[in-house]
Formats: sequence, structure tokens, C-alpha cells
Amino acid sequence: MFSLSLFLSQPLRAVHQGIMFSLIKLRCQTTSVLNVNQVPKAFQEDGIISGYRHPRSSATDCVLSLFQLTNETLNVWTHFLPTWYFLWKLMTVLLMEDALYDAYTWPLLVFLFSCCVYPLASSCAHTFSTMSACSRHICYFFDYGALSLYSLGSAISYSAYVFPDAWVNSTFHAYYIPVAVLNTIVSTSLSCYSRLGLPFLHYDIDESFSERQSPRLSKVLRILAFAYPYLFDNIPLFYRLFLCVGEGCTDNEANSIHVHHTLLAFLTAFLFATHLPERLAPGRFDYIGHSHQLFHVCAIIGTHFQMKAIEADMVLRQSQLLVTAPPITFNNTAGSALVCVCISLGIICLYSLPLLYGSSETHTTSAEGKKCKH
Ligand SMILES: [Zn+2]
Repeated sequence: MFSLSLFLSQPLRAVHQGIMFSLIKLRCQTTSVLNVNQVPKAFQEDGIISGYRHPRSSATDCVLSLFQLTNETLNVWTHFLPTWYFLWKLMTVLLMEDALYDAYTWPLLVFLFSCCVYPLASSCAHTFSTMSACSRHICYFFDYGALSLYSLGSAISYSAYVFPDAWVNSTFHAYYIPVAVLNTIVSTSLSCYSRLGLPFLHYDIDESFSERQSPRLSKVLRILAFAYPYLFDNIPLFYRLFLCVGEGCTDNEANSIHVHHTLLAFLTAFLFATHLPERLAPGRFDYIGHSHQLFHVCAIIGTHFQMKAIEADMVLRQSQLLVTAPPITFNNTAGSALVCVCISLGIICLYSLPLLYGSSETHTTSAEGKKCKH
């Protein structure tokens, strides 16, 4: 009996030791965060002193780091969890009877789809951005493309439900979606350009135009790339909320929700542009409370209010818009979004290919002598 239990306990003990060893190894791997002086400049963030992941992490390390507190952990979760919220909203509308056959709901479906894509792309970008300098650039190219799609999703839903009565069927209304599509192309290109300049011409991760060489210009270009499509999309809404007087202003219960969304959008832009609060107290907000996390949270709450306002307008104005507004077609909803996705993917490929396959040379990308294969 004793010998049998001893016989059985040996492999169990070996398994137990194996598990303990794996856990210790995992803990050792996942607790090795670096400070700002240990990572290349391309990975450094203003006002963030510690909590950096290794700049050559494996994909597995990147995923495991989500369960450890680094300066990116909350950046990932603040967009990953809301993705499921918007996906749930999208599925709810999709599963409603006749949603796919009712053209009136298509703009809302496109908007909700874009609301799922942008936080998902962002959380993936934040997760895998520390695999290498190249992966960091490519991850954020996708992030920018997804933001452009969200901008177009907003425009498509505004065109269908939010335009003030006075502007419905105007010349501006007729050109609104085509211009919004054009804006997404310019926005994706400009935001990608803001990282490394033009592919094939400027790309030299070490020396020439890069985010690290002219961070202020990069930041200004990136803010411009996101702000101008947002401002264009919101021209009809701003007119309706702040300028319109008299008839045709569409003053309904959705207006106050639109105001909430607008205030949050400006707060989001302010946080992105100023790097507050960590700029005032470098090192204090490395893990919790830095501007990028607050920026993510404000963006998501803003998107939630935007969705509520769009839904309110959609329901309140349905009977009237079905008579007066231009017909909702595949071309001015899913078709436009599809064009945007294809062109944005093309632009991202154009900006990414030189990083992946440009030449067989390797370039030093960091003070530590890490290599980035072209
Ligand atoms: Zn982010």
C-alpha cells in the first residue's frame, strides 16, 4: 500500500513541480517591466517613466502582459471590453426582425460596425506594439485606419438621421458622404505619414524624418488627421445644435445627448493633445490614470452617447425622414464603408510593405542595438 501510494505520488509530484516551475517562469517573464531609459526612443511616452514592456517581446509575452500591470495594460482593456459592448449592440440590431432588409437601419448597422472595429484595432495595436519597432508602426497604422472607418461610420449615420431638417436634400447633403469617404483616405494617409514620412522616400527608421526626430510635428499631423474629418462630419450637427434658429432646426430630445457626446469628444481631443496629467507629474501616472487611458475611456463614453443620440434621432424622425430624406441605398451605406476599408487597407499595405519586405538589410532601431528587419 505504502509503495503504491509512493509510486502514484512520484508522477503527481513531478506534474506539480512542473506546474510550479511554469508559474514561476511565467511570473519571472511577466514581471520584467522596464523603465524609460531601457527602451528605445520610439517606444518612450511623454511623462511615463516606468512600466514599459520589453521592446522585443514575443506575441505570447504580449498577450500574457495583459494580465500583469504595465503602462499598456489599461490601454488594452479600456478598448477591448467596450468592443464586446458595441458588438452586443450590433448583434441586437442585426437580429431584430428585417434589420438587414430594412434600408432605414443600414446606416446604424454601419455605424455600430465601425464602433466595434476601432476599439478592437486599438486594443490589438496596444497589445502587440512591443514586438519590434516595425510591428509598433504597423499596429498603429491599422489603429489609424480603423479610426478613419469610425469617422465614416459617423458620417453615414449623420447623413441618414442627424442632418437638420433645413439641410435635408441640400447640395451639401448630396456631397456629404462622398467628401467623408475622401476624408477617410486623406486621414488614414496623413496619420500613417505622421509616423515615418512617405514609404520608399522617407523611410529610414534610424535617421531621417521620423516620430522620434520631430515628435511635435508628428503629433500635430496626427491630431489634424483625426480632427478635420471629425469636424467635417459634425458640421450639420454643430449647425443644428449651436447656430440654427427658427424653423427646420430639428430641436428634439436627441439634442441634449448630442451635446454630451460633443463635450466628451472635445475632452478626448484635449487629453490626446496635452498628455495631462502625466506631463505635470512624470512617473506618478505610469500605470493608472495617464492621459492615454483617460483618452480611451472618454472616447468610449463619447461613442456610447453618440450611439444613443443617433438611435434617438433615428426613432424620433423616422416617419418624416422616410418621406423627405434622400433614399438610403447600399452605395451610400455599406458600399461607401467597403470602399473606405479597401482603400485604407491599400494605404496601410503601402506604408507597411517597406517595413516588412523593403530590402534584406537590417537597421539598428534603438539605443540598445535592436534590429528591425526590412
Ligand atoms: Zn490608444
